[in-house]
Amino acid sequence: MVAFPQLHAPIAIGTLLLPHRVLMGSMHLNLETTEGPELAAFYVERARGGAGLMVTGGAAVSRAGAGGAGYALINEPEHWDRWRRVVDGVHDAGGLIALQLFHAGRYADEAAFGIRPLAPSAVYSTYSKCTPQPMTATQIAATIADFAAGGAKAIELGFDAVEIMGSEGYLINQFASPVTNQREDEWGGDSDRRRAFPTAVTTAVRLTIGSAPLLVRMSGADLVPGSSSGREVNALAVAHVSAGADAIDVGIGWHESRVPTTQSLVPHGAWIDFAAGVKAALRDAGSSVPVIGSNRVNSISQAERIVASGKVDLVSMARPFLADPFIVSKSFSGDAQLVNTCIGCNEACIDHSLGIKPVSCLVNPRAGRESQFPLRTRAVTPRTVAVVGAGPAGMEAARALAAGGARVALWDSGQRIGGQFLMAGMVPGKADFLETVRYFENELARLGVQFRLGNAVTDIAQLGHPHHVVLATGVLPRTVTVPGAALNNAFTTPGDDRVSSAGTTLPRVIDYPHAFADVSSIGERVAIIGAGGIAVDLAHLLVEVTSGSCLGEPAPLSGRASLDRFLVAHHLAEGTQASPVRQITVMRRTGSIGAGMGITTRWAVVQAIRAAGVRTLTDVRYDRIDQRGVWIEHDGREQLIEADTVVIAAGQVPNDPLSAQLAASGIAHTVIGGALHTAGMNAVAAFEQGLRVGTALATT
Ligand code: SF4
Repeated sequence: MVAFPQLHAPIAIGTLLLPHRVLMGSMHLNLETTEGPELAAFYVERARGGAGLMVTGGAAVSRAGAGGAGYALINEPEHWDRWRRVVDGVHDAGGLIALQLFHAGRYADEAAFGIRPLAPSAVYSTYSKCTPQPMTATQIAATIADFAAGGAKAIELGFDAVEIMGSEGYLINQFASPVTNQREDEWGGDSDRRRAFPTAVTTAVRLTIGSAPLLVRMSGADLVPGSSSGREVNALAVAHVSAGADAIDVGIGWHESRVPTTQSLVPHGAWIDFAAGVKAALRDAGSSVPVIGSNRVNSISQAERIVASGKVDLVSMARPFLADPFIVSKSFSGDAQLVNTCIGCNEACIDHSLGIKPVSCLVNPRAGRESQFPLRTRAVTPRTVAVVGAGPAGMEAARALAAGGARVALWDSGQRIGGQFLMAGMVPGKADFLETVRYFENELARLGVQFRLGNAVTDIAQLGHPHHVVLATGVLPRTVTVPGAALNNAFTTPGDDRVSSAGTTLPRVIDYPHAFADVSSIGERVAIIGAGGIAVDLAHLLVEVTSGSCLGEPAPLSGRASLDRFLVAHHLAEGTQASPVRQITVMRRTGSIGAGMGITTRWAVVQAIRAAGVRTLTDVRYDRIDQRGVWIEHDGREQLIEADTVVIAAGQVPNDPLSAQLAASGIAHTVIGGALHTAGMNAVAAFEQGLRVGTALATT
């Protein structure tokens, strides 16, 4: 019996027969203008991994349409050889690849080429922080011609298909929306005229690419107040097909939207019903072109269920191919337990793509660096290496070492590898962090790593005689010097008050690891000292555990009212306010709430906890903790934050109990991750250090 029969059912996009129904969606990589082998290596590895049809990151059809200086320019000759190498490499690897034609419109980066962004109307963008110039009729005609020329060039370069980017709030989407298209000419006004530019682009590209396959990515819901209605979205899809589209790829949300769409706190598959609405409209109109659903699908088994539901014909996944280039081949061959699953953190992918850093992946730091870190390198002489600490840095170091041929023993005091990922996996929307732990457990076992769990290494003699020791012993919570803040982690209930030296009872004061370890023991009035990512996550966990509204698989979304209910239920809507059962205050001395979290995640999670009733305070001075709670100075006056539980989540310090012993014994060792330093250290940096150090040690 064929695994994933729905995904294997034959389907074609225009004249292109696909090997299966999973697409690799478009991702801007910030590698598109590099001269080295990185760009081709990225796509070739994913072609080898069975990706089927891949869609490139957006290639701008003009300088005015570039999202930044790192964007490919399909109509400029100096970019063509780079794309030829990509196409040839992908075809040699047995893959298929489509070029995405892109114009950012008012999301363009003026600094890239000194061109003020173009748009249908002069509507300020909170994303690009500019007011664009309204396009003249001449500029509109030239831009349509740019799309057409770009399509023709893509096919000439050997691409198997072309996709027009008309979603996520970029230029074509801007013309379709009444929010950004306020024209009163043939290109704007009523919804018919707002469709004129999008369909003119599709018509023009179709004309120049002949019978080559043409996908159009369009927005299934802009999630911007006052934007296109569902009826208008559906009419646009029908119009694109009439203009020559062979498939409709449905995206969700704009960069300016205040509704989270890609973040981990959005349930899996939450947006598929919008693509289903488009498909239903096309079928009603007599069209059978394939419809592609996307966003928040991160496993092949989910894709199978979605296609089996009949809501869409194909599923496009992007970030999961960063996390594991071989997600398709592993899943199809029955090795899904070896898939490194995308956890939806955005920290090394979308967050990088919005700036100038090359895109990579938090859980797979090889992503975007495939040419620098070939899949398997062999040690000339196999070495024995002890890795102490099985958090992110230690897991990845052990993997890279073992993949490079070293014999590795991985030590940790816990009964399970994962370190802080085990804690993160408890947080609402972060259950997938445990998939990372599952992946490393299976992959390290496959590579022959010896697990030495439940062993706190206090004496280096425990390690035997390895050639090298990698210390990845992580961090310890930072303590604070506020009167009354001495920890008493031993108490397990809020009623277990302790007595101060002055004879008064104090609330329970615990550090964040103890809070995560026993959430059910946390009281009803919680003051969290510190407001970085861990503090925000803890507040989110306490809110959800209290209210019982844990995020799970989404209820079907059908229509705006259903969407609104969904957003409110999951604290994703801006401006909503729940009645909290638990009173939680998150506060910090300096900086902003959630500082240190990823740019695309922070706002969404902070919005969610505030919507759930969590109070957030910055610029706080802590005076003391007494029997009533935490006394602070805020807004120039003394205030009491009533609390029966005070959690200290005020940062971390390196935990390195072994390097002095190793140095004294003359044993070669390397300290990585939080054990080395905590300033600027995060999971992205920890995994990357693990990769770099593990690879270097395995090959020297
Ligand atoms: Fe997924 Fe995070 Fe990797 Fe991006 S960085 S691909 S969201 S795991």
